[in-house]
Amino acid sequence: MYKLVFATHNAHKLDEARAILDGVVEVIGLDEIGCFDEIDETADTLEGNSLLKAKYINRFYGYNCFSDDTGLEVDCLDGRPGVYSARYAGEPTDFARNRQKLLNDMAGQTNRKAHFRTVVSLILDGEVFTFDGRVDGQILTEERGNSGFGYDCLFVPDGYDLTFAQAPELKSIVSHRFVAMSKMRKFLQEKITKS
Ligand code: IMP
Repeated sequence: MYKLVFATHNAHKLDEARAILDGVVEVIGLDEIGCFDEIDETADTLEGNSLLKAKYINRFYGYNCFSDDTGLEVDCLDGRPGVYSARYAGEPTDFARNRQKLLNDMAGQTNRKAHFRTVVSLILDGEVFTFDGRVDGQILTEERGNSGFGYDCLFVPDGYDLTFAQAPELKSIVSHRFVAMSKMRKFLQEKITKS
């Protein structure tokens, strides 16, 4: 089967990508290629950071690869934390502190609308392809559920009552990453069929 490196150290993201791309490509994590580098996310857009990570792996390790960058964009915070979602409460990244800061910043707000947005960059034989995904929902006033990572236990997608952390099976079919990577899956299927 065709192999692609996913430029992430996040085991949750790897599991999600493997489930979405199952049967089309074998997804290889950074640890498996002996890459333990922390790639600095220095761009100020999701698109920029996503591309930067894929280019780094392609340039220094020589693999066809893809990367994703995700942000949680909250309406009443004018789209924050957005591209700074990982470092919202400062560095190093601490999911629990980020969630607490989000709850503090949204205290008393009745408009709890937010969305996750993902940009996936794929580098295939020197060409760059981009795929995006978004899921709309609400931010709760307290955490619910234990699975997933990041802001999952605070986010309830529209049309449902459970957070992503309470319902990983739901996340796996409606999430921002599912939407973006499903587009990439379709693209890769067509490419592989033609070649
Ligand atoms: P990243 O740079 O793409 O890893 O994402 C930035 C931050 O967004 C992460 O540190 C997480 O806090 C958050 N994040 C990314 N993807 C998800 C997700 O699927 N669920 C919840 N939070 C996420």
